[in-house]
Amino acid sequence: AVGLMAGKRGLIMGLANNRSIAWGIAKSLHAAGAEIALTYQGDALRKRVEPLAAELGALVVGHCDVAEADTIDAVFATLAEKWGKIDFLVHAIGFSDKDELTGRYVDTTEGNFQKTMLISVYSFTAVARRAEKLMTDGGSMLTLTYYGAEKVMPNYNVMGVAKAALEASVKYLAVDLGPQNIRVNALSAGPIKTLAASGIGDFRYILKWNEYNAPLRRTVTIEEVGDSSLYLLSDLSRAVTGEVLHVDSGYHTVGMKAVDAPDI
Ligand code: NAD
Repeated sequence: AVGLMAGKRGLIMGLANNRSIAWGIAKSLHAAGAEIALTYQGDALRKRVEPLAAELGALVVGHCDVAEADTIDAVFATLAEKWGKIDFLVHAIGFSDKDELTGRYVDTTEGNFQKTMLISVYSFTAVARRAEKLMTDGGSMLTLTYYGAEKVMPNYNVMGVAKAALEASVKYLAVDLGPQNIRVNALSAGPIKTLAASGIGDFRYILKWNEYNAPLRRTVTIEEVGDSSLYLLSDLSRAVTGEVLHVDSGYHTVGMKAVDAPDI
């Protein structure tokens, strides 16, 4: 992939630490020659993001909490001033109260439903609207989703409902932005042990289940998600928009427990 992203610049949102999916994507983009800008959420994460940014020679744009629109505006104002134009956008952000990532979906509270939707769904649209203005030569936008959007997964609850809405918004955004040659896609990653994932009840069970039952009989890494994202963020996928690409060792194809799967 050397040179695949040469001359391209873009923003990656959602880096928390070196286990983040955003980090896998940032490393692959950097290795392919892209110039990267990063945001962080709050001072605690700033300390983690700055050294990672330095490893890739990335621009740290600043703090962004997508629940506060003025912080999104500030990020895009800085990008407009420093770069003027961007070619890609990665949205690797999701949040739900961990007390509701366990038990029954039916017990979801109104407050957490709204917060989950705002941060995990609307924020992609809010960011896309600002990024559109900087994608004057076309571009590629990518968000991260999960199979829990399509099928019911234990404990995923309101996040599953949010990911379903996120995938629908990918299609609506693809139609709105297509005439400007801006493509909008989602990458549906298999389960990976990250900070966000550790909030999901019994996550280890989900990991094991995937390892035993996915066609490739293993889970996926952030580096593999990063390499697959290169396809969606580069000109290799220049005719692809409104798509959800599964990077999950093939798990989404499976209808039943594998015959050789051990008990967990
Ligand atoms: P992570 O904890 O490393 O990243 C989540 C990021 O969301 C963090 O950087 C956090 O700062 C950011 N975030 C949360 N609320 C925010 C807010 N209000 N404003 C700005 N940023 C905010 O975990 P991850 O697993 O790398 O998550 C990245 C994306 O991948 C999420 O959308 C997640 O749902 C999705 N995903 C994860 C998995 C998995 O198994 N880990 C699988 C499929 C999809």
